[in-house]
Amino acid sequence: MSPYLERSFYGIYADVGRVTQLFKTLTSPDQTVKECAWEQLRDVVAKRTGTNIPTNQNIQQFLNTLPERREGGRGDVQSMWSTARKFLNRLSASTSIDESSNIKIILSGVEVTKQRRKQTSTILRRQANERQLSLLKEAKDQGRFFHLISDLPEGNSWLSNGSFISFAAYRFANKARCNLLPVRAVQKRIGKVCVDLCPACRRDKETLAHVLNGCKHYSNAMTTTHNKIFERTRKAANQTLGTQFIDQKIPGSPGILRPDLVITSHNEMTIVDITVPIENNADAFKESQETKTAKYAELVDWARAQYKTVNFGVLIVGSLGTWDPENANTLKLLGIGRRYSVLYKKLCCVDAIEGSLEIWRQVRTRLSRNVPGNNSEMWYMVAKRTGTKIQRTQISSSF
Ligand SMILES: [Zn+2]
Repeated sequence: MSPYLERSFYGIYADVGRVTQLFKTLTSPDQTVKECAWEQLRDVVAKRTGTNIPTNQNIQQFLNTLPERREGGRGDVQSMWSTARKFLNRLSASTSIDESSNIKIILSGVEVTKQRRKQTSTILRRQANERQLSLLKEAKDQGRFFHLISDLPEGNSWLSNGSFISFAAYRFANKARCNLLPVRAVQKRIGKVCVDLCPACRRDKETLAHVLNGCKHYSNAMTTTHNKIFERTRKAANQTLGTQFIDQKIPGSPGILRPDLVITSHNEMTIVDITVPIENNADAFKESQETKTAKYAELVDWARAQYKTVNFGVLIVGSLGTWDPENANTLKLLGIGRRYSVLYKKLCCVDAIEGSLEIWRQVRTRLSRNVPGNNSEMWYMVAKRTGTKIQRTQISSSF
């Protein structure tokens, strides 16, 4: 993992604040402040480089290069300007000073000049955020989730202020989105367990996607989440659109399909289905949309022969609380007003996270019964066969 990514946003913003302060001092409109700052900087560079009158080139090199740490020594002696270059280095930013002593800061290809000194903090913070996000996307585990969710700010409304969401669910969602939950597939990779088979169904690898969306053992909890979002949608839908058919086969239709909600009036039919996929790749929502469209294609064709107007919509809410922007068309079909939809979206996302947390609680409860030493037949057999020592899994009471 990149050292830049390991730091918290608070640490990065603190560095941005310090660099901004020093840059503003060097570009101050007050001549006394500016000259005093430059004089101090030249003094420090002169002492460090051993030159009597350092050039702008020397100053630029001083700010952009960290000194080599001496063996057994204490490294760089602290001064305001030596810490400045430490902050610049931690931000992966650099400085450029021309012959007229005009200084500018460069971060991820964007230059902050004297003319833009008032926006220094805003520009550096924005660039630092973008850099952090691109590093996050490149990360093998975390990137899979952030490729999708980072582009959909609408679905992350709960993230900034935690509205409508419990503290446990908030913590769970953030850990899950970074793939930090101790599922077997992750634990095997870091050598904490010897098998990654799902202990509940014993058929597939225990990944987060399998637990939250694939394991039949937790299908009841998945259905509960789906039904909660469905019930909210049904109540929010315009009740005057026509007769509602809920989770049942349309009389006379081919096949055995039962869409979540069908609304019929004398010459119009609206079919809506709800799905809660996990957002673990960039095309997760697109794939869900295509799967549902293909599934109901025959039913829609049949309905078009019976009704003058047939509408079909899919409502997609990610298991980890991401809202698909394509849902806007479905909300239109259901007559959910723009004003209420703002609140409705937030509540649906929170419903999905709370549902996933409930599944995760079931996983942890089951795991606490299955750890070696608690009569876990399966783990015992695997250890015997492979000759591997099984480590006892720490059961966290965080959730
Ligand atoms: Zn399973």
